Amino acid sequence: MSRVGIMGGTFNPIHIGHLLLAECAREELQLDEVWFIPTGVSYMKAGKNDRPDESMPSAEDRLKMTELAIRENPFFRCLDIEVRRAGATYTYETLEVLKDKYPEHSFYFICGADCLYTIDRWRCPDRIFANCTLAAAVRGDTLLSEMEDQKRRLERDFQADIAVLPFRNLELSSTEIRDRIRSGRSVRYMLSEAVQRYIEEKGFYKNDRA
Ligand code: NAP
Repeated sequence: MSRVGIMGGTFNPIHIGHLLLAECAREELQLDEVWFIPTGVSYMKAGKNDRPDESMPSAEDRLKMTELAIRENPFFRCLDIEVRRAGATYTYETLEVLKDKYPEHSFYFICGADCLYTIDRWRCPDRIFANCTLAAAVRGDTLLSEMEDQKRRLERDFQADIAVLPFRNLELSSTEIRDRIRSGRSVRYMLSEAVQRYIEEKGFYKNDRA
């Protein structure tokens, strides 16, 4: 039985926060591998772009950036299953596909702890929890006690398995990176060099409107 972390994300673009979180989960949860799965048409973002001036790179380009970002880590893999799937991306479907294909693996879905407060509104949360342990990354000195009630509620309502993953507070987001590129500021060291080069070659984000 292998222990596999699932790092799902829009990755628009993928940055060192995502990579550090995956590496931290691998170490803390003794995972054999972490599989990065860029979203195809994101459920939250499909048809609901609240900033229509922003151009989102295609799923293929976000997949390429993810492949470039992880290529030097032998424990990381990138899967294209959501990019290849037609229609909106739902996590429960992805986990069911994976569980069907790899019944011997146990899966850990890695996400920021805020998802403890939203996941019950994702599509079919019961089917998410049936197929993975949720690895919720708690950043910096956020009090675990503040989240205990919500964690217990999910455990009770969905028979959820939830692992709390202490993580550093790394103030970095894809939104900040896009804003910096748009306004001509440096993003060096915030992303892998290969991803930065790819973004420059393709001209992503620099023409987004403020
Ligand atoms: P994202 O913005 O690319 O982020 C990916 C993950 O990295 C998130 O869990 C995010 O947590 C975390 N992260 C980003 N920056 C970080 C930092 N500096 N430090 C620590 N953690 C950081 O992707 P997303 O759009 O949130 O999507 C995440 C996954 O949830 C995807 O697989 C998506 O399909 C899934 N999802 C599914 C549904 C559904 O099935 N209905 C709905 C929503 C999301 P934070 O968000 O806390 O920053």
